[in-house]
Amino acid sequence: MITRSAVTVDSLTWQEQLASSIRDPKQLLDMLGLSHSLLDGALNAHGDFPLRVPHSYLQRIAIGDPNDPLLRQVLPLGDELLAAPGYSEDPLKEQVANPIAGLIHKYHGRVLLIVSPNCAINCRYCFRRHFPYQDNKPSRHEWQAALEYIAGDDSISEVIYSGGDPLAASDKQLQWLTQQVAQINHVKRLRVHTRLPIVIPSRVTDSCLQWLTETRLKTSMVIHSNHPNELDTAVAGALTRLKDAGVTLLNQTVLLADVNDDLSVLQQLSERLFDVGVLPYYLHQLDRIQGAAHFEVSDIKARQLVAELMATLPGYLVPKLVREIPDAQNKVPLL
Ligand code: SF4
Repeated sequence: MITRSAVTVDSLTWQEQLASSIRDPKQLLDMLGLSHSLLDGALNAHGDFPLRVPHSYLQRIAIGDPNDPLLRQVLPLGDELLAAPGYSEDPLKEQVANPIAGLIHKYHGRVLLIVSPNCAINCRYCFRRHFPYQDNKPSRHEWQAALEYIAGDDSISEVIYSGGDPLAASDKQLQWLTQQVAQINHVKRLRVHTRLPIVIPSRVTDSCLQWLTETRLKTSMVIHSNHPNELDTAVAGALTRLKDAGVTLLNQTVLLADVNDDLSVLQQLSERLFDVGVLPYYLHQLDRIQGAAHFEVSDIKARQLVAELMATLPGYLVPKLVREIPDAQNKVPLL
């Protein structure tokens, strides 16, 4: 008998869910009743960027369907090891904009802190799949350098928690860091870029809501959902808690071939996001990271999809189509 999950996620804390994630390609294929013909490629690509899927996400993947749109985001494929022209290990040249361990300063007025090198899930298209996290894991003492950098530049009005996934850090660490940031008078806003409420919705704990809302900073959270099948009842509950606590919720999606490059899927995603209190924000063209070329959607098709979204949805449900370009002062609109 095929069992999708041997773990009852409801009885586990989010930390236990993280620890019990599936990391073995053969186990993933067996749990989903998929052919071992995928195994050699999966093992090879897993060696380059490991498989990681929590059971709470696995539960949303259909059994026996190698083309499931959620599975495609997490299953390593042999295609990832093919060299592709224009693809590299640092497509956004972030390492150039990384003046201090744990801090990236690319855009005017805001800095990004690599709060945690860990993620709850390893997305195969991730633009930081080759990021040197080993050089960007500041201790509490070493955060002082990043905080001094922010304090020394009064043009910085927004701090963005990123990663990895910043919510993979403990609430105690996040509370401490938020208190330090809030002491810098010219910082007005805190933004959290995270996929964890989508992947493990129980991550939205009381203590998480506490540090997010007890600060003087205006807080927003940019979640990352690529497909309406990701937005199940548990995710809706987590997002509602955030919204009810006063956190502004936005979503960014990466446009991915054979995952969401389809008008109906993008319509459903926008409508479902709005139902659970989230506004669609960005639709990103893929960053050209080595290993992700098989996910690329042409700009022609991307523009056509967004034009069709504009023709069928109210404007506030149509995300901005953008591409991030190294050295540009902001994300570049494509429409
Ligand atoms: S959650 Fe975000 S940072 Fe982590 S692997 Fe996925 S895309 Fe990359």
